Amino acid sequence: MIPAPTAPESDALFARARAVTPGGVNSPVRAFNAVGGTPRFIRSASGAWLTDVDGNEYVDLICSWGPMLLGHAHPEVHAAVSAALARGTSYGAPTEAEVLLAEEIVDRTPVERVRFVSSGTEATMSAIRLARGFTGRDVIVKFAGCYHGHVDSLLAAAGSGLATFATPGTPGVPESSTALTLVLPYNDRAAVEAAFAEHGPRIACLVTEAAPGNMGVVPPEPGFNRFLAETCASHGALFVSDEVMTGFRASRLGQWGLDGAVEGWRPDLMTFGKVMGGGFPAAAFGGRADVMSRLSPEGPVYQAGTLSGNPIATTAGLATLRLATDDVYAHITAAGDTIKAAASDALTAAGVPHVVQSAGTMFSVFFTDPADGPVRDFADASRTDTAAYAAFFHALLERQVYLPPSAYEAWFLSSAHDDRAVQTVLDALPAAAAAAAA
Ligand code: PLP
Repeated sequence: MIPAPTAPESDALFARARAVTPGGVNSPVRAFNAVGGTPRFIRSASGAWLTDVDGNEYVDLICSWGPMLLGHAHPEVHAAVSAALARGTSYGAPTEAEVLLAEEIVDRTPVERVRFVSSGTEATMSAIRLARGFTGRDVIVKFAGCYHGHVDSLLAAAGSGLATFATPGTPGVPESSTALTLVLPYNDRAAVEAAFAEHGPRIACLVTEAAPGNMGVVPPEPGFNRFLAETCASHGALFVSDEVMTGFRASRLGQWGLDGAVEGWRPDLMTFGKVMGGGFPAAAFGGRADVMSRLSPEGPVYQAGTLSGNPIATTAGLATLRLATDDVYAHITAAGDTIKAAASDALTAAGVPHVVQSAGTMFSVFFTDPADGPVRDFADASRTDTAAYAAFFHALLERQVYLPPSAYEAWFLSSAHDDRAVQTVLDALPAAAAAAAA
């Protein structure tokens, strides 16, 4: 029996971090506020494993919140990055790596042209500006529970009625920033129809996660994304599919590979991030050539970035995408199926109500009552038993399994999750389910 990890070094670093950084972290979910306890400060990572500053090892089921599709410190990605590093780190001038990565993305997705930025937030922010600039309209539509980064106009809470404008979702966002945003319930066609019926001529774009993963995994109901694309088209609005999380992750072709490619439609604009940066800060937005040509310097819609298309990040992204073959996705699917089944079996045996949901290779476990049906939207997701999740999370952490420290996140695997890593998770699940039941 491996002793439960203790974390005195993480405790000490967390205390120092809190003195100099709000909450001790540089992105809120890392602080463990939703589950309690001390966040583990990570010293290194390799393959499917994280090692913290106390020397504890954990099977990583976060994968940096999606990017590490091939696992940590992949030797071929590292070799490419090391070679790029030796040539300098940033030039502020175009490079071949940017062209190669853009070609790879154009090849693997329905976008015709692409522009690189440094974060998913920038990608969605820029896509919305471009949609407004292209259409000459001002209103944007999003869904409750979909996260598109910390863009002011998208940090919005639903208004009092279905087709009423949103209110700020956080202090610091002025009402004027969300006054042109409509927030609708996900998977709700009637709400989309009502919003377009009332505001159609003013709607520049509808933006949605291609398969939401930021309220736990809530897949689009069959045909929902196509319905959104068609509704936008019939009202002269652009359909913006946010694949920052799902892109090159849900499948080789992202969520679009699971619906649009099969059904024969394409978004007007798409956003990407995470996997395409190979663990470095890189993201992108792209889409129809006629829309993208409105972007500066070809067109009048301004957009720029000092580190956009950074040579190290684009090299890592290109190496990652080139290594992300069908075999990688088949491996991740199989490992995910094993873990999903074992989690469900353990929770059932412990008498813990739960629902497992997937979008391609992404999945999550909701601690909701299956009698209430699948989780279709944010209101359903909000019913998850967060206390049960916290107990489950800590029991797994004690047994060397590092789940997302929030009940509303997807679980991520990589091609490096081998039998030993998966078995470590399987061995830990019965005790974690018992803890969730207590
Ligand atoms: N869009 C989606 C779907 C995301 O999941 C995220 C981040 O999790 C973002 C946008 C924002 O990306 P970033 O954190 O790189 O700004």
